[in-house]
Amino acid sequence: MDNIVQGFSQFREQVFPQQKSIYQRLVHDGQQPKALVISCADSRVVPEQITQVGPGELFVCRNAGNIVPPIATVTGGVSAAIEYAVMALGVRDIVVCGHSDCGAMKGLLQPGALDKMPNVAAWLRHSHAAHTIVCEAYPDTLDDKQRHHALAMENVVVQLNNLRTHPSVAAGLATGQLTLHGWFFEIETGQLYAFDGQTAKFVPLEDDTHIPVAEQSSPRQVAASFVAAAAG
Ligand SMILES: [Zn+2]
Repeated sequence: MDNIVQGFSQFREQVFPQQKSIYQRLVHDGQQPKALVISCADSRVVPEQITQVGPGELFVCRNAGNIVPPIATVTGGVSAAIEYAVMALGVRDIVVCGHSDCGAMKGLLQPGALDKMPNVAAWLRHSHAAHTIVCEAYPDTLDDKQRHHALAMENVVVQLNNLRTHPSVAAGLATGQLTLHGWFFEIETGQLYAFDGQTAKFVPLEDDTHIPVAEQSSPRQVAASFVAAAAG
């Protein structure tokens, strides 16, 4: 713990004095984070570092496997974080971020490894669809790293689907308030890949001129013609 406490001393003595006005403004005005990021709790995947943003800019929810339980089965911290970020903070973008060498994904690929971790095993059931997709839709010839990458990327897409089951997200998408992003961080190269919903492929995130998105919502009124006819 020594270097952790030393780090805090450095923060208190050197960093905080320089950023004091930022912290005080964030308390006075309240936070207005740009996005909700749901990422893995893995110590090597730090959303604020990858995106080089400071305090107040990201609302982050991290858990093993960057999992979003569907709304019907579990009410917990992830559900509350989503609802608060969308309803109270008004975030316009939600990112689900997976990564390479993910221990949770390895657990899915080696079920016996979870025999003594019943809570992890139960949590990872929310990723079983991704595992089934990789087993049934990908070639048997994948090597271990390819299989792991495929599983982690399919898991991001599965969690985006779970995200849509949350009422605040479903309403945000229908009213054009929300954009969904699926990212994959390759730790060993520092590369970020983004899921492009138009082509259903992960592509490298190169610059900010074109940001591939999983789902760009647009306002819709599916009953518009019915309502107009009734009014007429
Ligand atoms: Zn992970």
